This record gives sequence, structure tokens and C-alpha cells, in this order.
Amino acid sequence: MPIRSSVYAACAVVVAALVVGAAAPVAAAPLDPADLGGSAVSGTVAPVAAAPPEATRPGGRSGAVGAPGVDDPFFPLAGNGGIDVQDYDLRLSYNPATDRLEGTATLRIVATQDLRRFDLDLRKFTLGTVTVDGVPAAITRDGQELQITPKRTLRKGAAFTVVVPYAGVPEPVVDPDGSSEGFVPTKDGAVVVNEPQGSPGWYPANDTPRDKATYTIAMTVPAGVTAVGNGALVSQTSAGGRTTFTWRERFPMAPYLTTITLGKFGVTTGRAGSIPTYVAVDPTQAAASAPVLRRLPEMVAFLQDLYGPYPFETVGAIVDNAPELGYALETQTKPVFDRAPDELTLLHELSHQWYGDAVTLRQWPDIWLHEGFATWSEWIWTERHGGQTAAQRFAELAQEPGNSYLWNPPPGDPGEAANLFAGSVYDRGAMTLQALREKIGDPAFFTVMRRWYAEHKYGNVSTPEFVALAQQVSQQDLGAFFKAWLYTPGKPAFLADDGAPVASARLAASEGGGRRR
Ligand SMILES: [Zn+2]
Repeated sequence: MPIRSSVYAACAVVVAALVVGAAAPVAAAPLDPADLGGSAVSGTVAPVAAAPPEATRPGGRSGAVGAPGVDDPFFPLAGNGGIDVQDYDLRLSYNPATDRLEGTATLRIVATQDLRRFDLDLRKFTLGTVTVDGVPAAITRDGQELQITPKRTLRKGAAFTVVVPYAGVPEPVVDPDGSSEGFVPTKDGAVVVNEPQGSPGWYPANDTPRDKATYTIAMTVPAGVTAVGNGALVSQTSAGGRTTFTWRERFPMAPYLTTITLGKFGVTTGRAGSIPTYVAVDPTQAAASAPVLRRLPEMVAFLQDLYGPYPFETVGAIVDNAPELGYALETQTKPVFDRAPDELTLLHELSHQWYGDAVTLRQWPDIWLHEGFATWSEWIWTERHGGQTAAQRFAELAQEPGNSYLWNPPPGDPGEAANLFAGSVYDRGAMTLQALREKIGDPAFFTVMRRWYAEHKYGNVSTPEFVALAQQVSQQDLGAFFKAWLYTPGKPAFLADDGAPVASARLAASEGGGRRR
């Protein structure tokens, strides 16, 4: 990308002299399955291994241009270099009749390198005057990159505030697997979910799971419409035929876990133990979902006993009537369901509050750290409630023939973004955990699960870190074990292949009560 010639060019020249040796953006090392062999497994991520040197990055030699992405293998332009967002304050309004979204995003950011220019991620929308610390900034657009050149270069470590006024009709983001996300219109409003890359479809974000932040989301809608966001409802005020719902999530949240789903909802508040609950249900789904939603406090208690204290301030659910979406998602504190969930779908999305939302992957190919864990959570729930044991479920799946969906892609190496939510990531991922349980025994296994949560809560993780913890706790060399389960394509050779398929109805993790993410 050429250096912009602008009124700030002189400033850039000065900066260039100052930033030689400036830190490159932190990037996770690409996962090398070969690293998993033997006891040399390291839980630490090699620093900046995947980042090209400063001088070879766009604008690098002129210095201080934040990279347009953070080198995620599946979504290279998602997220941005040089910035660490601390807090988002989104003041928005939406009219379902016109589908128009407008408002202002205020981001409090810390510079992690000197910055002559930096990017946010935002798709489409018309912009008002963007300011940095109250001073208008120069703006360019390049696809999903919103390039912001502040009047003065920002120094590494400096805190600054960016204000982005914007308006337009949000367009859902279509993923490589064909599914839609972002701000997706429904009959009576919109269902808002973002995994993995929907956030820039409705607000300017540093759209990487590595940059968690706190959020305030205020949404003004026509009277009679309810807007449901993450965290606690701070206020609900009405004036002039419109209602403003203000939500605050004060725990760290990755951009892909945000929501402000809106429509006609019946709301029930209560408690799950000491945790306040807020459950919003589309009236068309009320009867079908009531028996399952009644068990939400019991599920939270079950998961707390199993994994550790619930990570957030509030819990709940949003049950929409959204065939446009076609799946459920673990939006933080309130998973979103496209229809009345069945018992295991609710349990699955709640378990993601521990594994996924609180303990979050560093890069998308490690998605089994979310989906394998949530699927295994379904198995242990069933086991502890008088149903099929996890061992029985494992044995059942182990009979799947070699050409089954179950074996490819291997869960630790999905290969491409279109495979992010492949059935094998879920079921073979869960089998990996059950195999680990049977190999190291229940006491060590549950210690691993609990420590994994306790030690990485609100942070980001990688598969080698999980392998290292399992080895440390079990005092076993598990390199070959994890290599076979997570990275080797096809049915593992040590499982007998008698060619007898499992009864089909229970195969895919995502069938039944709706697809699960
Ligand atoms: Zn899931």
C-alpha cells in the first residue's frame, strides 16, 4: 500500500526516524503438529514468528502504520495491528421498517506501537467525521479496512479515543461455508451474531478474538420492540414513541461474541443461584422453549460444579424466530437461538461461556478448543443425568466407518475457513477429550479441565498450551496421542473399522434442536 501523501506526511517523516525497531504486532506462531511430539511441547507461543519484519509490511519503512490484520490463517484481514481496544461505547438506533442502522461508536484504545495510521474493521456504511481525541482524522476505505490517519502520530503506550459516526443499511456477512451473520433482519427486527467475522457488518471493531474489551451498547428502537444485548441492562427509557435499551458488559468480550438482537420478545428475569438472569423469547417460540429454559439455572449450577465459577456477571438466553439465521450462537452472557432450543443445544451454548467466551482461541483453526469442549459438555451432562455415558457415546462414534463425516478434517487442523464448523471439529473434538479422560483418568482429566479454565479465564489460548497442561497434570508424554487425535486425517488406525455405521439420527452434533455453533 503506498504511503498516503497528505497534510500529515511531514509528521510521518519525523516518526520514521523514531520507530526503527518498533515492536511488530504480536502474532501467534502457526501451529506445527510436529511440535507436539515428545516432551518438548511448549505452552508458550513463539513471539512474532508469523509476522514479517517491520520493513516489509505495508508502509513499514515509513514507519508506524498498523498492520491491516493479525495474521489469522483463516481471516488474514480480521483484526488490526498496533491497537488494543479497551472499551466500546455504541450508541445506535435501528428502524425495522427501513432497516436503517445509525449511530456513533466511541472506542477507547491503547497504541501498542507508534502509529501514524491504524485500521479498524467496518464493512459498508456512510461515515460522518471521524475524530481521534476530538480532532478530525483523515479516512480512507479499503474493503473491510477503515484506515484512520490521526492528525498527530500516536506514541506506543498512549491511550486515545476514536469516535466514528456512521449510518446505513447493514448487510449480513456471508461466510466461506455459506452461512450468514452480522446484523441479520428478521420479520420483527434483527438477529445479531458475529462468529467468526460479523461484527464489522454493524460496528467498527478490532475484529480479532485476541482483542477483548468491555462494551456499552445502547440501542434505540420503535416502542414495542425489545433490544437485548450482552451483560446487564443498565437502563430502559422511552420517549417520543421510541425506547432506548442500554446494555453493559463489564467483563472482557471478544467482538464476535457481541449482540444487540431486537424484535418482539417476552422477557423473564430471575436468578441462577446468585447470578441475575435475563431471558428474552419470541412469542412464537414461548411454548416450545419453556420446558428447556426452565432448566437454565440447573445447567449453570452443573457447569459451575464441573468447571469452576461462572465467568460473567449475568446469564440468560435470547430465543428468536430466525429461520434466516439457521443456527444458535454462544453470544456472551446470553446465547442466541434461532428457534426454541432443545436441552442439549442450550447446554452446549451455556458451556461455551466457559470454553469459548471466557477461554478463547487465539486463532480460528483452533476452533476445536471451543466446539470439542462444548460437545463433550453435552456428553457429560447426559452421563450425569442417567443417559448414555460419554464412554458409550465415544464407543458408538468409534464404530463409524472410515469414510464418515466424523474423521475429516481432523479437528486440530480444519484446513480452511469453510470447515470451521465441520461436524468432525465437534464430534471428533469431543472424542479427543473423552479419549484423554480414559487415558489419564478422571481425577487428572477434571483437573486439566478446571485448570485450563481457571488459568486462562478472560484470555486467549492455543492447542499446544492445552497439550502442555495435560502433560503437566498427567505426567504423561501425550505428544503422539494428540497428534493422532487432532492432526492426523482419517479414522485413527487404532480404532477398529468394522464398517458398521451408527444409527443415523444421532450423527451430526448440530442436528436435532437446531444447528449449534
Ligand atoms: Zn458450539
